[in-house]
Amino acid sequence: MGSDMTLRLVGAAVDAIRGNAEELSALDRAIGDGDHGINMKRGFDAVAETAGSIAGLALPPALEKVGMTLVMKVGGASGPLYGSLFMAMGKGSAETPASVGAVAAMLGQGVDAVRKRGKSGPGEKTMLDVLVPVEAALLAARDERVGWSEALRRTRAAADGGLEATRAMKATKGRASFLGERSVGHLDPGARSSQLLVHAICDAVAAMIQSAETERV
Ligand code: ADP
Ligand code: MG
Repeated sequence: MGSDMTLRLVGAAVDAIRGNAEELSALDRAIGDGDHGINMKRGFDAVAETAGSIAGLALPPALEKVGMTLVMKVGGASGPLYGSLFMAMGKGSAETPASVGAVAAMLGQGVDAVRKRGKSGPGEKTMLDVLVPVEAALLAARDERVGWSEALRRTRAAADGGLEATRAMKATKGRASFLGERSVGHLDPGARSSQLLVHAICDAVAAMIQSAETERV
């Protein structure tokens, strides 16, 4: 994967967070302390500032750099968690993850790192309720050998389903767990930021595949 593609993926993630920071904070006001959008925007603004140095990198070191920037800048519980996600994806990534299976394996490394760092798993009303179903969807798409567009469609759907499922969950990790039963009935802000990132990456990958196909015609 060329550095131009790396930059496009990073740019898509930055835009998704910048464009939805208000909503992320509003979700966090309902079951947390209202700073998730501010935290994430601070982190991804810092990532955007590193675009110049990311432009020269292959995907694995670029992901590691994104992760390190997020750890340093996001703050809150989500900083080390998103930082671990991206750093582990970078360490676990093929130079060019050109197959659905390679993307699934890369995300799997990231998800494992979040589980370890957060001492958490799916069903606890966190970002993992989006990330784990997305990983499962990619693994199933790999096993069934579906094409990229079907794999991307399933990935988006898994993210949407995972996010929506957090509404009925009682939080048992993070700040929202202090609310106990009162956390039920609200979407988890970290699950929403993960779903936004998944959509942004899927859309960017779809656009890159489309333009590669157009060039070939
Ligand atoms: P803080 O809770 O410190 O204010 P943020 O508001 O930025 O941090 O992030 C909150 C989000 O972090 C939650 O919505 C949840 O998705 C995620 N989160 C919190 N704790 C954990 C954990 N132990 N494992 C996975 N995700 C977590
Ligand atoms: Mg918060």
